[in-house]
Amino acid sequence: MTETMRLETARAEDGTTLDAAALVDDLRGVFRTGVTKPLAWRKAQLEGLRRMLAEQEAAFVEALDTDLGKHATESWITELGYTSNEITHILGGLKSWIRPRSAPLPLWLRPARAKIVREPLGVVLVISPWNYPVQLALAPVAGALAAGNAVVLKPSELAPATSALLARILPRYVDQAAVRVVEGGVPETTELLTEHWDHIFYTGNGAVGRIILEAAARHLTPVTLELGGKSPTFVDDGVDLETAARRIVWGKYTNAGQTCVAPDFVIATRPVLEDLKPLLDKAIREFYGEDPAQSDVYGRIVNERHFGRVSRLITEAHVVRGGATDAESRYIEPTVLDGVDGDHLSMQEEIFGPILPLIEVSGVDEAIEFINDRDKPLALYVFTNRAETKRRFIRDTSSGALDFNAPMIHLGAPSLPFGGVGASGMGKYHGEESVAVFSHAKAVIDLPTKPDLLATLYPPFTSIKETLIRRIVAPSRR
Ligand code: NAD
Repeated sequence: MTETMRLETARAEDGTTLDAAALVDDLRGVFRTGVTKPLAWRKAQLEGLRRMLAEQEAAFVEALDTDLGKHATESWITELGYTSNEITHILGGLKSWIRPRSAPLPLWLRPARAKIVREPLGVVLVISPWNYPVQLALAPVAGALAAGNAVVLKPSELAPATSALLARILPRYVDQAAVRVVEGGVPETTELLTEHWDHIFYTGNGAVGRIILEAAARHLTPVTLELGGKSPTFVDDGVDLETAARRIVWGKYTNAGQTCVAPDFVIATRPVLEDLKPLLDKAIREFYGEDPAQSDVYGRIVNERHFGRVSRLITEAHVVRGGATDAESRYIEPTVLDGVDGDHLSMQEEIFGPILPLIEVSGVDEAIEFINDRDKPLALYVFTNRAETKRRFIRDTSSGALDFNAPMIHLGAPSLPFGGVGASGMGKYHGEESVAVFSHAKAVIDLPTKPDLLATLYPPFTSIKETLIRRIVAPSRR
C-alpha cells in the first residue's frame, strides 16, 4: 500500500472532523498579509509565550502532574523555566539574527551588492511528544514564531491534560489568527500530514519519523526530525565515581527515564563497574529514599503500553538494584542491570524508562567500537579526566551531542545547537538555530546595469575575452 493510500484509508476509517485543508488555507492567507513578518509581531508572540508560562505556571504544573506525575520543581527545571529561558535567549538575539547580512563578492562582481536575507518559510507544522509536553511543544513554536511563520501545533495525545491546556490557553497569549493548536492522535496527525506545509518539525520516535518523512516527500516539504535512540555513557578509570554516579542517576531517573537524552546504558571496565554499582545504589537512595514508590519526585510511566514494554526489559537474573513494578500505578523502580551484553533485550532499542544496563568493556578502544557498531546516538556521555580520552571520543565517534562528565548539560546552553545525527534525527534547533531552521536564507544580489560588467561573458568569445575570463572571472587557483 502506498503512503497516499495509507493516509487516505486512515482518513476514511477514522472519520476525523478536522478539515486540515481549510486550516492551512486560512493560515496561508494570514501569512500572505505579511502580518507575521515585522520584528515587533515576532517579539510580541515570544513575549506572549513567556507571559503564559509565568501566569499559568500553576495550571501547567497540575497538568504535568496529571500526565506524568512530575514534581513541581522538576516541571520548572525541565519545562517551564527551561522554555522561558530559551525564549528570553531568542528575544535577546533575534534582531541581530534576522538582520540581512552583507556577503563579500569576488572582484569582477564588486560593483554589485549582495546580502543574505532570512525570510520566514510560511505555514509550519509542529508535532510534539508526551515526555516533555510543554518544552517540546513550545520551544519549536517559539522558533517558528521568531522566524515570522504561521504555526499549527499538534501536541501529543499521550499527555492529554497538557494538550488540552495548551489548546485552551495558548490562543489567549499569541496572535490567534496565525497560531493554532490541533489536538488529537493518529487520525488528526494523518489528516494534517496530507497538507502542503512549508516545514514540518517533528519530535518523537523514529518509526513515526519515517511516516512524517514519507508524507512530507509528496510535497517536497522540508522536515526536522528530533528523534531518540540509545545514548551511551562511558565511565573511564580514575574519575570521581561518587559524582559520576550521582550525575548518571540524575540523568537516568529524572522523569522515570522518559527523557530522549537520558543515559541509556553505562559502559566501563569491570573494576569501574564494580566500584560504580554501590554508588549508583547510594545516589538512588539519596534522591528517592528507601522506597521510591513513596517519593514525590519520582515519576510514573506514561501509559500501560509503555509500562509493559519497559517492564519486560527487567530480566531477573541481571537485576543488581531495584526491579519492582506496579502495573496499577505504572510504577517501575529505579533499576540497574549487570552482566548484560549487546544482545540483551534492553540493548535492542531505546529503553525510555528507569532501567540502567551496565556493560563491560576492556577500555576506551572497545567502548568506541561498541558505540560505533550501533546507530549514531542523540547524546554521548563520557566521564573522564584524560585529555587523550576526550580527544579520542571527539574524533572517533559521532553523536548529536557529546558531554564530558555530566549527562544532558548541553541542553542548558541555548547557544549550542540541539539535534541528532543519523538515526537520532536530522536538523537542529535551540537559540539562533531555532530561527535558522524555520527560515530560508535567501541570496539577494543587485548589479548595476552600467557599465555592463557581464559583457566579457557574452559570446562571441575572442582571445582577449578568454584571457580576461581566465584571469578575472574564473582564475585557476595556484
Ligand atoms: P508520541 O507517542 O507522543 O508521538 C509523537 C507525536 O507523533 C505525537 O504528537 C503523536 O500524535 C504523533 N504520532 C504518533 N503516531 C503517529 C502516526 N502513526 N502518524 C502520525 N503521527 C503520529 O511520542 P513518542 O514517539 O513515544 O516519544 C518518545 C520518543 O521521542 C523517544 O524515542 C524519544 O527519544 C523521542 N524524543 C526525542 C526528543 C528530541 O528532542 N530529540 C525529545 C523527546 C522525545
